[in-house]
Amino acid sequence: MQRICPVCNGIVALAVSCPDCGKYMEDLGHVSDYFGPYSPYEENFWPASNSQALRRVSGNCVHFLQCPQCQRCTSRWVSKIMA
Ligand SMILES: [Zn+2]
Ligand SMILES: [Zn+2]
Repeated sequence: MQRICPVCNGIVALAVSCPDCGKYMEDLGHVSDYFGPYSPYEENFWPASNSQALRRVSGNCVHFLQCPQCQRCTSRWVSKIMA
């Protein structure tokens, strides 16, 4: 048994409506994919951690979402499930 993110594994899709225009927001993947090594924000978000450590400790997977219409970004914490 291990804990997996149901969104990363395609079991469920994140269906979040944009708070501004109501469109479904696109899942950009979890944070470590979105904020690559070039990102100036990464250290501010996750000091002294990498994605593997973060995911192991938290038991959650952080996904970034972006509205395709107005480009608004938000994030969602997805609870991992036992698989
Ligand atoms: Zn995930
Ligand atoms: Zn929008």
